[in-house]
Parts: sequence; C-alpha cells; structure tokens
Amino acid sequence: MSKKANTFRTPIGTRDLMPSDSARWEAVTNVFTGVASRAGFSLVDTPIFEDIGVFSRIGEGTDVVGKEMYEFRDRSDRPMALRPEGTAAVCRAFAQHRPAVPWKVYYRGPYFRYEAPQAGRFRQFHQFGIESIGSDDPDIDVEVIALAWEVLRSVGLQRVLLIVNSMGDQNTRILYQEALRSYLLDNSNEIDEQDRDKVASHPLRVLDSKRSATQAVTNDAPKIGEYLSSEAEQHFDRVKDGLGSLGIPFAIEPKLVRGLDYYTHTTFEFQSSALETAQNTVCGGGRYNGLIEELGGPPTPGIGFGMGIERLLLACDAEESFPAPGSDTQVWLVDVADGRSARDLTHQLRNLGIVADRAFDGRSMRSQMRSADRSGAEIALIIGEQELADQTVAIRMLRDEEAAQTIVPRDEILREVERLLGLDS
Ligand code: ATP
Ligand code: MG
Repeated sequence: MSKKANTFRTPIGTRDLMPSDSARWEAVTNVFTGVASRAGFSLVDTPIFEDIGVFSRIGEGTDVVGKEMYEFRDRSDRPMALRPEGTAAVCRAFAQHRPAVPWKVYYRGPYFRYEAPQAGRFRQFHQFGIESIGSDDPDIDVEVIALAWEVLRSVGLQRVLLIVNSMGDQNTRILYQEALRSYLLDNSNEIDEQDRDKVASHPLRVLDSKRSATQAVTNDAPKIGEYLSSEAEQHFDRVKDGLGSLGIPFAIEPKLVRGLDYYTHTTFEFQSSALETAQNTVCGGGRYNGLIEELGGPPTPGIGFGMGIERLLLACDAEESFPAPGSDTQVWLVDVADGRSARDLTHQLRNLGIVADRAFDGRSMRSQMRSADRSGAEIALIIGEQELADQTVAIRMLRDEEAAQTIVPRDEILREVERLLGLDS
C-alpha cells in the first residue's frame, strides 16, 4: 500500500521570504534602523499577540478591528488577538512600564489582518514603525514625518507624495462628526450601498472609502479644517511651516482621517504614484493624544507612523530602485585533494572576519571552479595533490583575467589573503 505524502503550501495571504529577497529585506531593515537610531530612537519589541482589548480600543467600527482581526481564545479561554498594527501595542507597553518621557522607540515585525489578498495586500505583512511619546510639540510631528521621508528617500523612491491633514482635538472631532453625519444622511442615496451602514454610526469612516460613488459624495462634504479650534490651527500651521522649512513637499487632504479612532491633530500618509491606487499607501501615521489614557496609562500625547515593508519594496520595484545587494563572499576554497584544507582554511578565514565558503562532496576541479565563479568571490584558493604535498596554496584572482595564478606557502596564506583584500593596514 503506497501512502501519498501531504503537500503543504503557505497559508493564503502569506509568503515565504526566500533568498535573495531576504537579503534585500535585511538591507532595507538596516536603512530603517539607521535612520531611526540616528534620530535617537531605540528598538521596542512587543508580543505578536495581546489581550484583544488592546486592539479593540483603536476603533470598534473599523475594518481593522471589526472585520480583519485574527481573534482567538487561548487554552485557558482568554480572548486574544494577533496584532493588526503597532501603535496600540507600543502604547500598551508605555502604559505598563511607564518609562521616562520623551520615549522615542522604533519597531519592526509581522502584523496580521484577514483581508482579501492581492498585490501589496497580505494577511501577514510587515511594518517598520516609530512612536514618539510624551510631548505634543508640533515640531515632533515634523520630525516624525521627516524620518519617514528620509527612509523613502534612502531607498531611492522619487514618486512619493506626502498628504497631511489635521483632525484637531477631541472637541473638533465631535463637532465635525455631527456636521458630516447630517451631510451624509442627506445624501445617503448616492453613497455606495456597502458604505451606507457606516453613515449613522461612524461617519468619519465613510471618508476613508475607496468606492467611487461614495467618494463623489464625500468630495463635497464639509471639511474638518473648518472646525479646528484656534489652538489646533496653530499646531497645524507650525507643522506645515516645519515641513516647508525642511523642504518636504506635501499636499493637504481634508479627507485624510485615517482608519483608526485614536488620531488627533496631525495625520499623514505617503502614497506612491508608481503603485496601484488601492494599495498605494506606503506609510501612514499621526498623532494620538488620547490613546495611552484609553489603555490605562497617564494622559500622554504621542505620534508615530507605520510603514508597510512589502509595499515599500513594491514601490522600489516599480521605480527600479534598491536592488537586492550582491553576494558578499570574498574567498572560495577549491580543494581537489582530500578536502581537509578547505575544511580548515574556511574556518580560519571566517575567524578573521572574512566571508569564505566552499563546496562539499569532493567535486571535480571544474565543478568547484564553477561554484567559485558563481559565488561572486574575488579570490579562489586552490589546493590540489601537488599543493598538498608542497604545503602550498594556489591563488587565483577571479575578477582579473590578466592576473597569473600565484603559489604561496600554506603558513603564509592567511596573511596573503588579508593583504589581497586590503585588510592588512
Ligand atoms: P490601506 O488603506 O492600504 O488598507 P491602512 O490604512 O489599513 O492601509 P495602516 O493601518 O495605516 O494601513 O498601516 C500602515 C501601513 O501598513 C500601510 O500604509 C501599508 O503600507 C501597510 N499595510 C496595511 N495593511 C496591509 C496589508 N494587508 N498588507 C500589506 N501592507 C499593509
Ligand atoms: Mg486597510
């Protein structure tokens, strides 16, 4: 009786990160951590699942919480959720540990949303993010936006547009919500059916809709800018002034209220004009002056952003920027004697910090040389029966076709490799 093996594939909406995509992923991560740490931000890493209450605070009527969240009960029947976003979890950590302010942190990792998968939309996706907690100085808004801009520029993106808006304070929100609700109710016949049920309960959500019938109505809706208090207006003016001063181009989008409930004052998005419009938001963020209190902490203002790594790299693909880094192999060991020299020399070279590799299984000279060429290494060290008997090593410079092969005594080979790689100074 033959038993057929099961074949398994990645769950829908998830991906394996394979070489050489993984090398590019590491490189873009280094760009992000470099930008964040140069600005005084430190890494914070929170669990991938949390008490579901941490996330329900971000907006009961939102798709993120209402439709997309991975909810489960653990074996002790505790309600849990896989984290759908970063800010609430970081604010939970702040409320729990009460670190000194300003608390400037960055994070990166997987997030989970049960969405319809398509290009740039996954069920497990990854974000870089930063949060700057403890002050409502509008210059922090400018700093946070400038850091996102810096990341996008560092990976070579040109076709990104920054849009900003102000949500004002809680009072603005309440006043505006009322005005918007009555406008939308008056025009509800023209709103796409799928958005209609949100009009009464969550009118701000309707502004977020990507459906064209709804957008036609919301284009003429009252604008939140008309409801800002003078304090909120001052805050927003200072942000616009700062962006101008830093030379960061932006457009004001009065409909940018963003999907989550916690935003106050500044909201912003970076969109790539090189991507399909349904998935063109590379980075989104804003100020959330009420969230930490909601999560049981002291009233503390904060602002941050989340940047989708998959989207960022898709935008890079579309603009043909930030290619995967090349191989970093420096030395390849070709051993057609008994393999011992390759075994020992790779170990010794690696101890010196040199990237060294080899083939196994006693392959032919031709096959090993082919591997050496493919590896991208600059130097091949070759040991045949003759070299083994003479206690020597032959050196071939793989990138220089003119260079003759040289023979070096075995006990000088490490020093010679360092010299050839310019590591001896
Ligand atoms: P969208 O409007 O595209 O659904 P969003 O407003 O739901 O985005 P945020 O909650 O602001 O997204 O998340 C921050 C960033 O994370 C987004 O700008 C995007 O780059 C990325 N992102 C969000 N959801 C996904 C997903 N399902 N797959 C891949 N990236 C995502
Ligand atoms: Mg979304």
